[in-house]
Amino acid sequence: MSKGEEILLLWDIDGTILSAKGAGPQAFKRATQDYFGYEIPITSIDWLGATDYSIAYAFLENAGRAVSREEAKLLIDCYLSCLPAALDATNARAMDGIRELLEYFHSQKDAHQALLTGNVRRGAEIKLGYLGVLHFFPFGAFADHSDDRNDLSRHALELAREHLRADWSPDQIYVMGDTPKDIECGKIIGAHTVAVATGQHSVEELTAHFPTVVFESFADPQVLIEFLAG
Ligand SMILES: [Mg+2]
Repeated sequence: MSKGEEILLLWDIDGTILSAKGAGPQAFKRATQDYFGYEIPITSIDWLGATDYSIAYAFLENAGRAVSREEAKLLIDCYLSCLPAALDATNARAMDGIRELLEYFHSQKDAHQALLTGNVRRGAEIKLGYLGVLHFFPFGAFADHSDDRNDLSRHALELAREHLRADWSPDQIYVMGDTPKDIECGKIIGAHTVAVATGQHSVEELTAHFPTVVFESFADPQVLIEFLAG
């Protein structure tokens, strides 16, 4: 930005923008009760950096049901109807410094923000709407588009070219996330990767995946602002 170059920040949601304190898993657990008629334990699922569809597939498999996108969508619809109550019950909150950062980049004419998340679009809208930060994100790549997070980052680059400028280059893009899957999907498109240890992974664990940079947290928003200013 200091170089007068436009940048795009592609934000992950869970563990990065917000601490949902298990609201997602709680809502899925409730959804399995509604959908299958009995609760499937959420401990049998690898949640970190997973897309909503891959989570739904794992539940269907555990229940011995046909694993199809149609079935998964029905389970996800149940999950979405359980999500608002789960957010209330768990007191989901924005990570420290995140509101300041979203406001700051929103106010900068050379900076753009969008979403790159394993949430389905409606789930992202419910979570970010709950925190009052949805308006910072004019577009995003969501799990509705693909089950594979790496496809989502390619899709996000296409969307950037569609929504912003046709010649948008990957080296103007920063993929922001709390898991090795975020780092991997950012690297796939040649973007910079900014890892933050506010989810379940430590600085050391994230460093082992060689992101461009790792932060302990954004509690001091200046650390990210100064990094991006070069
Ligand atoms: Mg995350």
